[in-house]
Amino acid sequence: MLLIVHGGAGNRKPAKKALRKLSESLLSGYAILSYGGTALDAVIESIKVLEDSGIFNAGAGGNLQLDGVRRLDASLMEGRHLKTGSVIGLEGIRNPVVAARLIMDSPHVMLTNIGARRIAGAKKLDPLPEPDRRSLEKLGRIKKKEKSIAAIYEQYFSTVGAVALDIHGDLAAGASTGGIKAMLPGRVGDSPIIGAGIYADNSMGAVSCTGKGESIIRLALAKELSMSLKSMSPDKAAALSLRRLLRLQGDAGIIVINKKGQFTVVHTTEYMAAGYINKKGTMVKESFKRIHKASI
Ligand code: ASP
Repeated sequence: MLLIVHGGAGNRKPAKKALRKLSESLLSGYAILSYGGTALDAVIESIKVLEDSGIFNAGAGGNLQLDGVRRLDASLMEGRHLKTGSVIGLEGIRNPVVAARLIMDSPHVMLTNIGARRIAGAKKLDPLPEPDRRSLEKLGRIKKKEKSIAAIYEQYFSTVGAVALDIHGDLAAGASTGGIKAMLPGRVGDSPIIGAGIYADNSMGAVSCTGKGESIIRLALAKELSMSLKSMSPDKAAALSLRRLLRLQGDAGIIVINKKGQFTVVHTTEYMAAGYINKKGTMVKESFKRIHKASI
């Protein structure tokens, strides 16, 4: 049994309180695995803790888009039947990962705001509070200061994600994000795109990515990395994919578990707040294995 969570990759040092919250998220998710629960439920629980915290770019803390609205993306996938659910641009709902779960259990795979809200509303999911004055002022400052999306990418990202392996040998992956800061309304990153932001298949592994969504989508990073897991260790597969991403001027962090339970956390950025928990204990750090631009 193993659970890995991350709180984003970037070039700004993660705050101590973010690392503490990751530990809490790991413990909540692992409690589910310990009682024989599924990897999918552990992933949902650990992401929900991070969404609720309001300190990550997900759920209650999600970035505001350029027009001052929070539109949130999330996705889930389980590796036994390849069932998946994803939500794009969800407004007014606190836990997009729970909405993704409801979509997974519906005849659909991916819904944008209008359909997802209908499903979330029927199940009475918790509402998302309106952005407070401070967040709106912060958005105003970013709009004035940053002229290009590229400059905003240099910030600390803080999207969240998780992958898990349960006692039954099943894998799962998930991600949740508010996208990038001050992004154009309607812009979609990799996090809700199955095969780009996440992928899980018991015959290969489970992968969740964070970083510059545009380049992650172009490479279908999570699926391409999963395919490499057929013949390589998670370390080698992640390094290979991240080198390819660097050639596209991308930046990312990835958490990976293979079907044997071998795992890795790798990033191209200076930091990646992440942690893992297994029967030996918990480990949370602000950075793991870095793939440098010079190595491509
Ligand atoms: N990948 C996310 C996006 O592009 C952002 C992030 O991971 O921080 O929307």
